[in-house]
Amino acid sequence: MNLILLGGPGAGKGTQAKKLIDKYQIPQISTGDILRAAVKEGTPMGKKAKEFMDAGKLVPDEVVIGIIKDRLAQPDCKKGFILDGFPRTVPQAEALDKVLAGLGTKLDHVVSIDVPEEDLVTRLCGRRTCKNPDCGQMYHIKYTPPKKEGICDKCGSELYQRDDDNETTVRSRLATYNQATRPLIDYYRAKGLVRPIAGVGSIDNIFNKIVGILGN
Ligand code: AMP
Repeated sequence: MNLILLGGPGAGKGTQAKKLIDKYQIPQISTGDILRAAVKEGTPMGKKAKEFMDAGKLVPDEVVIGIIKDRLAQPDCKKGFILDGFPRTVPQAEALDKVLAGLGTKLDHVVSIDVPEEDLVTRLCGRRTCKNPDCGQMYHIKYTPPKKEGICDKCGSELYQRDDDNETTVRSRLATYNQATRPLIDYYRAKGLVRPIAGVGSIDNIFNKIVGILGN
């Protein structure tokens, strides 16, 4: 099953992707995670990407398209994949169509998670993430706090707050989403692929709605 999770920053794409990996045994591909790893390692790509990320702006299309092209060619994507945070622009979506055609495959579903904008701001500013890249579990200081402050329940690693989860950058990320990414809903609707989901309520409740659409 080849999936895209679409939705504003903080809509719950990463959280739901982690649950979908377990359910369907297909990998999550998050361009944000790949870029953050490159920033941490200080690679030339990471250095270039950091200024865009810190400003809440999009990294240039050719950079993320290159990342996705390489990643989708890996053997673990043969049985399917969950794209989280890609595509974010119409040119990225068009490039993805070409990459998939080259691999002899296509998209099955575009799950569009809809959350009111002010909820996104509250969610992102309180978000904490596990430092262990193999875990990456997410928490919210108010809504889903860890049992022990600052420590991941799942693996015991420290939690951190992303550099771009502050109100100024969050507002800029939302503006970018509305301008560049929202048009993708129409792009995929025209192809009959959009599965809209209200992204409010409990994490499990939203997950069950997604599974109800994707099937077992
Ligand atoms: P995310 O973790 O998906 O919220 O992404 C964090 C940041 O990485 C975004 O605000 C962008 O600066 C950058 N980024 C991630 N995915 C993309 C993409 N598909 N296109 C452009 N920039 C991206």
